[in-house]
Amino acid sequence: MKITRTIKYESDRVKGFCDEIMRIPGCDQLQACIQCGTCSGICPLSIYMDYTPRRVIALVRSDFKNEVLRSHTVWLCASCYACTVECPRQIRITDIMYGLKQRAIKEGIYPRNFPIPVLAKEFSKMVLRKGRITETLLVMRLFLKANWRAVLGSWRLGFGLMRTGRFVLRSERIERQSELRSMLTGKNGGNGGIPKEKS
Ligand code: SF4
Ligand code: SF4
Repeated sequence: MKITRTIKYESDRVKGFCDEIMRIPGCDQLQACIQCGTCSGICPLSIYMDYTPRRVIALVRSDFKNEVLRSHTVWLCASCYACTVECPRQIRITDIMYGLKQRAIKEGIYPRNFPIPVLAKEFSKMVLRKGRITETLLVMRLFLKANWRAVLGSWRLGFGLMRTGRFVLRSERIERQSELRSMLTGKNGGNGGIPKEKS
């Protein structure tokens, strides 16, 4: 039987992680959390999360970077803003979830074979390159990178969508893509907030 370690040690902490997250716009109130649990109680998805929103805040504050970035929680967050509206300390928990998602992609630390981070990354890349997404290609990339076997189980659905014109095989793009790209990347070569994953 595999025994999973649940104890967290001082050596697991990555000092400075909380300060870095607090520097992200919208995340600066993180330390004001009183651990009341309102966010976890109101969150419609917390029953599916490995760490509830309250625990995510506690882990970030204590610099448990790897536990936070490897958790499924940030990727299950549906950005419904219920927690942000109800938080008695006006902590923008949804923005913190976004900040953690960006950080996870940038660091390349996210649950492997979990489709949502792969989808977010491919979506951002496609918008940056073409100005819009082609659903067919996006779904194909998602399946190939996250779980290629799922293609086999979904071929009938995909075929039906193509027949009704919902899925097109032609790659779609906007005109004047370079203008959009320079808006997103900025003149001095930034990446417009789209995180670049470490190789
Ligand atoms: S509702 Fe706000 S104060 Fe309460 S645990 Fe969640 S983040 Fe902390
Ligand atoms: S924004 Fe995310 S964490 Fe907050 S209640 Fe909605 S799903 Fe839960």
